[in-house]
Amino acid sequence: MSKNQGLKGGSFIVSQEVAKNVFIPEEFSEEQKMLGEMVQDFCNKEIHSMGSLKVAKLNAEDNMDIVKDTFQKASDLGLCGVSIAERFGGLGLDFNTGLVFSENIAQSFSFATTIGAQTSIGSLPIVYYGNEDQKEKYLPGIASGELVAAYALTEPTAGSDANSGKTHATLNKEGTHYILNGQKMWITNGGFADVFIVFAKIDDDKNLSAFIVEKAFGGIEIGKEEAKLGIKASSTVQLFFTNCEVPIENLLGERQGGFKMALNILNSGRIKLAAGSVGGIKYACDKSVEYAKQRVQFNKPISDFGAVQQKIGQMATLAFAVESAVYRTGYNIDQKHQELIAAGASENDASINALREYAIECAILKVVGSEGLAYAVDQGIQIFGGMGYSMEAGMEMGYRDARITRIYEGTNEINRMLSVAELMKRAYQAKEIDLMGATKGVPVQMFSAINPFNAKGFLGKESEIVENLKKLFLLVSAAAGRKLKLKLVDEQEIVMNLADILGQTYVAESALLRVKKLQEQGADKDELETKKAIVQLYIYEALAIARKSAEDAIASYAKGTEKFVTQRLADTLTMTYDVNPKDLRRQVAQAVINAGKYPF
Ligand SMILES: Cc1cc2nc3c(=O)[nH]c(=O)nc-3n(C[C@H](O)[C@H](O)[C@H](O)COP(=O)(O)OP(=O)(O)OC[C@H]3O[C@@H](n4cnc5c(N)ncnc54)[C@H](O)[C@@H]3O)c2cc1C
Repeated sequence: MSKNQGLKGGSFIVSQEVAKNVFIPEEFSEEQKMLGEMVQDFCNKEIHSMGSLKVAKLNAEDNMDIVKDTFQKASDLGLCGVSIAERFGGLGLDFNTGLVFSENIAQSFSFATTIGAQTSIGSLPIVYYGNEDQKEKYLPGIASGELVAAYALTEPTAGSDANSGKTHATLNKEGTHYILNGQKMWITNGGFADVFIVFAKIDDDKNLSAFIVEKAFGGIEIGKEEAKLGIKASSTVQLFFTNCEVPIENLLGERQGGFKMALNILNSGRIKLAAGSVGGIKYACDKSVEYAKQRVQFNKPISDFGAVQQKIGQMATLAFAVESAVYRTGYNIDQKHQELIAAGASENDASINALREYAIECAILKVVGSEGLAYAVDQGIQIFGGMGYSMEAGMEMGYRDARITRIYEGTNEINRMLSVAELMKRAYQAKEIDLMGATKGVPVQMFSAINPFNAKGFLGKESEIVENLKKLFLLVSAAAGRKLKLKLVDEQEIVMNLADILGQTYVAESALLRVKKLQEQGADKDELETKKAIVQLYIYEALAIARKSAEDAIASYAKGTEKFVTQRLADTLTMTYDVNPKDLRRQVAQAVINAGKYPF
């Protein structure tokens, strides 16, 4: 593997990153820590103090006043302005600090969706694509919370296939207004929003355009609140546009630029969702440990039982690993932003292109984060036993609320396929990532110095395993590509197998580099030992997922000798990892139990 290629999204799969280049959460600044604490205080005071029963019963339709009231309190603290520059009344945070907000606000349960729509999809289209007039007109109100924002892309017949929407716009005779007609669905904050980012096609255009639409323009009917499985303290409605008159100056970005805009905004939404998932996993872990320590069965706290420790150890491992990857990526996005500004890009272009650079990582993180969260809330209920099934404990709400994270911001299937498709595009169309060159060396390298059992140094064996996972991806993707050629895109099961290898590799590498950096910085011995155990545990699991995914993929396209040879190579790359997962999980769980909460 070549050395890292600088700030190049997706290049992790063909190059080797060094620990000192990676940002790790242990390096958060005082400002970042203070923001996290302030947001947690807000969640404790305004949400948790209601008691889980009341929070669980919150339903946007019946309790819109509580939702609005909480929104007002969040705005008073400046929280509506986390993504907005100081000159427009926002907090002017960099991207990685914005992720600290997303992680911590996740503890406000479904209110996180309400404020998330305000600070992310509802306002970022103006932040990244607006002209000065549009920014001056709308951003101060959104930052102060005076204006509630929403993002209206999805339609009854256009979900994952967002560009197929039927909502359309035509210029009026006078050339002063676009006349908007159509219907939107599942619009978060829609019940009480003042400003909507609406995507529609102008005349017979092939692609969507985007508009800033004020409720005050008229011609908008707001549907009734959806009765939902979870995130009940968030408003979700349909919108109906009938001859809604939008001034021409409210066209956002270029005509037909809306689809690209929607995709770019989703890059940001995806990594923020992953940061929120980290917050959710930590919360489930904290609650589970608190309960497990005081719940006695068979004359022992249930936290003494291996079956319970196994779940706690796994939750903490997931939180640590996904967190490592989230903040590594967030920092790289900030660095890329600075690099682009230094090269003369405008603020808007630098923000958009820095995010686009890391589209592969954002998609990966959305999938791994939301699925890690699903595990944590499910096992959280299990640790609470019957109490987990009761509304009183709050776990059932976490379980219901978490489910949406695998659906919105692009379903996990779409994100899996996107991560692989984008990598292939960068490799074979844009020629930005040398996938072919990296693949050529794989069979030769396999029989030289890559036996992980011979590896030396701190986490040396684990470093080799991560490099082998990269080679596994290169091996399987190249062999599948040779065999299926263009048909590979239609073999979605295989693409999803590849996405799983890609995702596990990135997250495993991020956790590994974090702990290697800590060791290089001379971290405390005990801290290092537990964090090393977390890395080993995550790699143990990642290896199992990758092994199975590779086997599935190979068996799906290859037969006979080709299958035998490729599978043998894959077996070599994923050979058994010599650790004791039971002991590792117990070690991690014990550290959490001793601290009484997630302590890493
Ligand atoms: C509570 C909630 C809040 C939301 N908030 C907003 C919001 O604020 N603004 C907004 O614009 N939208 C919002 N959405 C919409 C959300 O983004 C969509 O639901 C999501 O993108 C999926 O679209 P869909 O529901 O039409 O599902 P579909 O696209 O119909 O997908 C159904 C299934 O088919 C699969 N599928 C679809 N296409 C493919 C393909 N090409 N290959 C393989 N599998 C495929 C999907 O993965 C999924 O499993 C929200 C949704 C919900 C439920």
